[in-house]
Amino acid sequence: MLNIALFGPPGAGKGTQSEFLIKKYKLFYISTGNLLRKELKEETKLGLEAKSIIEAGGLVSDEIIVQIIEKTIKNNPEANGFLFDGFPRTYVQAYILEGLMIKLDTSLNSLISIEVPEEESVKRLLDRGKTSGRSDDNELVIRNRLKEYSDKTLPVLKYYKDKGIYTKIDGLKPISEVTIGLEEIIEEELSKNLLNIVMFGYPGSGRSSQAMKLAQKYNLEYVSTGKMLEEEIEKETKIGKRINALYDEGKLVPDEIVVELIENKIANTKHSNGFIFKGFPRTFVQSYIFDGIMKKHRLNITKIFEIKVPTLELLKRLDQRRVTDGTKPYDSTTEKIIQRLQQHEKVAVPVIKRYKKSHSVVKIDGTDTFDKVFEKICTDIETGVKNLR
Ligand code: AMP
Repeated sequence: MLNIALFGPPGAGKGTQSEFLIKKYKLFYISTGNLLRKELKEETKLGLEAKSIIEAGGLVSDEIIVQIIEKTIKNNPEANGFLFDGFPRTYVQAYILEGLMIKLDTSLNSLISIEVPEEESVKRLLDRGKTSGRSDDNELVIRNRLKEYSDKTLPVLKYYKDKGIYTKIDGLKPISEVTIGLEEIIEEELSKNLLNIVMFGYPGSGRSSQAMKLAQKYNLEYVSTGKMLEEEIEKETKIGKRINALYDEGKLVPDEIVVELIENKIANTKHSNGFIFKGFPRTFVQSYIFDGIMKKHRLNITKIFEIKVPTLELLKRLDQRRVTDGTKPYDSTTEKIIQRLQQHEKVAVPVIKRYKKSHSVVKIDGTDTFDKVFEKICTDIETGVKNLR
C-alpha cells in the first residue's frame, strides 16, 4: 500500500495535484474538505453540525473528521492506497491518522508539504472564488482559514519531521514542475517498498545462491548477515576479529553487531527495488529486532520463502562443499557441519513458527534442480507483485 498525505495552506494546489496523483498511482482520494461539502449538500446531521464552522473558515471538530474518514475508508477496503488532502490538519488528527493506518495494517509513507506564502494563497483563492461557488472563498473567510492554518495546522509538521517522513515542495513553481517533484518523491517511496523478501532454509538448502540470483533478477539489495560478517573478517576490522573467534567455537554473533551491520546496509541502499534477507532473522530475538528495523524504515515484508531440503541431503551437500574451494571456516569438518545444522534447528524453527502466524510462509521444495527451484520462486513472486500496488 502507498499512503500519501498532501499538506499545505488553502490554495497551495493540493486539489489540482491530487487529480494527477490518484490517476497515476491508483490511489483512493480522501479530501476531508470535499467529504464535508458533500455532507453539507446532503444536509446530513454531520453536515449541519459542520456548516457554520466551515462558512466561517474555522476547523470542524476532530470527532466529525474521524467519523467521515472512518466511513470512507470502511467503504473502500480494496484501495491500493490513500491520498489524503486537507488531513491531518491538527496535531490530534496526526494521531488519528496513525490509528487509522494501524487498523489497516499499513502506515503513512510520506507527508508532502506544498509550500506557498500567505499572500499568494489569498490571491489564488480570491481568483478561484470567482468560479468555485464556494462560500468560503471570500477574503474575510480566506484570512480566517489561513490563520487557522498557521495556528493549528502548521504545528503538525513537527510530528512528521520527527517521524522522518516530511518533504516539502515549492508551490510557487509552475503546476507541471510541482507534479514532477511529487512524482520523484513518490517513486522513491515506491522503490523502497516494492519487494522485500525473507529467505529461510537450512544451511545447504541453496538459499544463498537462490537469494543472490533473485537479487540480480529483481534489482534487490542482497542482505546476507553471513556475507557482511565475512567482509568484516576479510577487512580485519575489530568486529571481524571478534567474529572469527566466535566462528571457531561454532557460536552465533551477538545481536548488536548484526543490527549495526543491517542498519548500515539499509541506510546506504539507494535505487534498488527492495531487499532480500538471508540468514536473518535467525533467532527468536532477531525476529523481533527485524520487525523493529523494518518498521523504523517503513518497509514491509512482501514474501517469505522457506526452502525445504531433507537433513540427509543437506549433510551430503555440505560435506561435498567441504572438500571444494568454496568451503567456509564454519563448515571445515563434518563435526562442525552437524553442529551448525543442530544449532539451526534449535533456533530457526521458533522463528518460522512465529512468522507463520502473521504472514504466509511459502514452502519451496529445494530438492529440485537449481533452475527449477528458482523458477518456482519467481512465479510466486510475480503473482504476488501484481497485487502489490
Ligand atoms: P478544504 O477544502 O480542505 O480547504 O476544506 C474546507 C473547510 O472544511 C475547511 O476550511 C474546514 O472548515 C473544513 N475542513 C476540511 N478538512 C478539515 C480537517 N481535516 N479538520 C477540520 N476541518 C476541516
